[in-house]
Amino acid sequence: PLYSRDFRHEDSTVDVSGLTIGGGGLVIAAGPCAVESEEQIMAVAEGVKKAGCEMLRGGAFKPRTSPYSFQGLMERGLDLLARAGQEYGLLTVSEIMDLSDYREFQKIDMLQVGARNAQNFSLLKFLGRVKKPVLLKNGIGTTMEEWLASSEYILSGGNDRVILCYRGTRSLERSTRFTMDLGTMASVKRRTHLPVCADPSHPAGNREIVKAMALGAVAAGVDMLEIEAHIEPERALSDADQQVTIEMLRDIVRSARRMHQLL
Ligand code: PEP
Ligand code: MN
Repeated sequence: PLYSRDFRHEDSTVDVSGLTIGGGGLVIAAGPCAVESEEQIMAVAEGVKKAGCEMLRGGAFKPRTSPYSFQGLMERGLDLLARAGQEYGLLTVSEIMDLSDYREFQKIDMLQVGARNAQNFSLLKFLGRVKKPVLLKNGIGTTMEEWLASSEYILSGGNDRVILCYRGTRSLERSTRFTMDLGTMASVKRRTHLPVCADPSHPAGNREIVKAMALGAVAAGVDMLEIEAHIEPERALSDADQQVTIEMLRDIVRSARRMHQLL
């Protein structure tokens, strides 16, 4: 398969609007689970920039468990995210749930495929034909090999700009929201040449342990981190328990970069 080290031995790098992901650096994307308002995304973007991140994340189309929960600002959320990214010199990443929304995503630098769509094969095939980098999460209950097989749908369609993002899987353990396995992150780096990102926020489910999980992921060899951060996390409209404050983000980024230097 195209993702494997048999096809390509050396690490590949992915260019995202001029920023290189993979190949030895550590790229950090941070931002709110969801774009909630202009004031919110502008304030978070300023904090994310000052914390030393390269990218701004923010959901506009949210895959919520309940249809009665906040679904995101949709097109307006993407507009606000793109404007905040421009204002503060941050590249942007946001989740695409449906290929019919693609036009609205033109102004976003990287497309995220969420855990719930990790095996939406028509979406993956579509993303194989677009000219945008893709951040592909693992499915909530998929194995590493199934996650890699999903990446093959994009790669085989002709889009070679894929970054794998590990966000943990569901296990019997309930002490965290999802189980983030260090061994999976170290293994996937050996199995594929593609850059690997880790999202410590969704498996943590609790802001107090995001730092430990982020540092563990860096130690396991990831090329990128994606962290949920908010100016007032306790008032967030989604994933309020796990979003870190800007102050916590600054500390996580500082420590993650120091740990990365040690490798
Ligand atoms: C998210 O990044 O906000 C998200 C919904 O993540 P996941 O798809 O990993 O649950
Ligand atoms: Mn979230």
